[in-house]
Amino acid sequence: MLIERIWVGNPGRNFNYLVACEATGNALAVDPFDAGQVLAAATRRGWRITQIVNTHEHGDHTAGNAGVVAATGASVLAHPRAVARIGSVDREVGQGDRIAVGSSVHLEVLATPGHTPAHICLPNGDALFTGDTLFNAGVGNCRKGGDAASLYETFATVIAALPDSLRIYPGHEYLRRNLTFAVDREPGNARAHRILERIENIEGASAPVLTLGDEREINVFLRVDSPEVAAGVAAASGCTRASAQEVFLALRQLKDRCRRDARASKFSRAAKRGRGQHAGRVTHCRFVHIGDGNRAERRLHHSDALAARLGSVASVVGRRVQYGPTHR
Ligand SMILES: [Zn+2]
Repeated sequence: MLIERIWVGNPGRNFNYLVACEATGNALAVDPFDAGQVLAAATRRGWRITQIVNTHEHGDHTAGNAGVVAATGASVLAHPRAVARIGSVDREVGQGDRIAVGSSVHLEVLATPGHTPAHICLPNGDALFTGDTLFNAGVGNCRKGGDAASLYETFATVIAALPDSLRIYPGHEYLRRNLTFAVDREPGNARAHRILERIENIEGASAPVLTLGDEREINVFLRVDSPEVAAGVAAASGCTRASAQEVFLALRQLKDRCRRDARASKFSRAAKRGRGQHAGRVTHCRFVHIGDGNRAERRLHHSDALAARLGSVASVVGRRVQYGPTHR
């Protein structure tokens, strides 16, 4: 099996993959985001894309489907529960199915619900394509149609049964931000600190490929039995003597909160820079993001509490920050 990892370079920090059969040159595109990048990579390697698999239905994992299909006639594979959202799916795949690529590659399909109910992971040989279920040093969130208890079950049963030797190919590159959260939760984890130091100036296209064994040493979500992790969760959340599942769920909540806080402070800094131009009492603020790929416009309405902290009103259109009168 040959693997091409494609760093998309978008704000979502997506990775795309091509998985090819050495004997035939046939290739499978995993979660294509930018069809042009995926097609160019296949051309460069001399491969023919015959299939596309979406690990789940989110737009940043399917945006390139149409372009790749138009150029190659590839068939699209996804979990049955993802079909309504993805639209045109030629083959539904679920737990225990196999995806053959050319004559020499046979990926297994593992149902891994949690990030969404339709999520699948794909092991083959020493590789594991994990979409948004398992990231380096983190796990997927459950904010868009997911369920944290299901995600815990996926890790406690499906992922726990897999060997240490698997090399992890996730859907996004979040290693540094995830490790920063992990070492906060488990300051005594020397290995996590060492990797964090090593990757200080490395990310994106040059991010290291870690194994599941590495993840079991550094990924706090895979270390819910560690006394230090449990104690850290207790200190941060007030949840004492928790079960492994409760620690996992508390970690997921803490991570969501950290992300919200990081976004709020980034937004707050931007708002402060513009305050001189437009002073005024804030009652509401609006964040408008014009997405990449096939994403529709997303509108996120921040809470009044956040708006009050900003001290100004801002709207962000695409990557341009604008300041203006209060939006209601
Ligand atoms: Zn997703």
